[in-house]
Amino acid sequence: MTELLKLDGVNSGYGDLIVVRDISFAIEESSITVLLGPNGAGKTTLLRTIAGLNTAKSGTITFEGETITGDAPYRRQSQGIGFTQENKRIFKKLTVEQNLMFGTYSLKLSKAESKERLKESYDRFPILFEKRNQTAGYLSGGQQQMLGISQALIGHPKLVMLDEPFSGLAPSIVSDVMDTVRKIRSEEGRTLLVVEQAVDLALSLADSVLVLDVGKLVHTGRADEPGMRQIVEDTYFGNRATTV
Ligand code: ATP
Repeated sequence: MTELLKLDGVNSGYGDLIVVRDISFAIEESSITVLLGPNGAGKTTLLRTIAGLNTAKSGTITFEGETITGDAPYRRQSQGIGFTQENKRIFKKLTVEQNLMFGTYSLKLSKAESKERLKESYDRFPILFEKRNQTAGYLSGGQQQMLGISQALIGHPKLVMLDEPFSGLAPSIVSDVMDTVRKIRSEEGRTLLVVEQAVDLALSLADSVLVLDVGKLVHTGRADEPGMRQIVEDTYFGNRATTV
């Protein structure tokens, strides 16, 4: 297996505030890794740091063997890192199609390529085709999540980072979106790093798990590792695991 992303001793936060500390892990190509942890653990901050939206104060981030620690977000995007932060990426006053087109403009794709990328988005989530002329702000929470995921994918990233893509989804839709996430890996060959707080959902989706607590990585392992569920629950409920 080839290593796609590697973090080594990364510290990051906001201004002088360090939120995530001494983070080291690696992600294999074509895998699904879920980042779990209680509220405020630093999950979003960690994804933002990988996307370049927060600058690592120390440590190294390597993507496909190249150091990207100081690179700007647009450079990381063009290198193959796609990120959608919960509720932050959608232009609510634009239509679904305009939102998707915006992604293709910023990538400077040709008309034909843009059309193809839109078709891919609509094939993944047919409801977005039905709603293509609707203002994004009027979509249901679940449809907005689908639009956010589509935007993260429009640039054909090698690494797709999704921040709580299942939040706000009706239970009946969660399994459809999970299937789509699995296909993004199995059929499109992409690597996923997904933030998810629900333990059962996370463990059923993931190959590998990263457990973050108060800014520290307290456990890494395979989702099917014996006792993983207990480790995550102990972290959530205060009986903290420290096996890293
Ligand atoms: P949640 O599950 O609630 O989304 P999280 O694990 O994603 O939480 P973060 O959103 O990364 O955690 O927040 C971690 C810490 O960083 C929190 O204490 C939060 O208050 C702080 N924080 C987040 N955003 C900022 C910001 N823009 N400026 C200063 N501190 C921030």
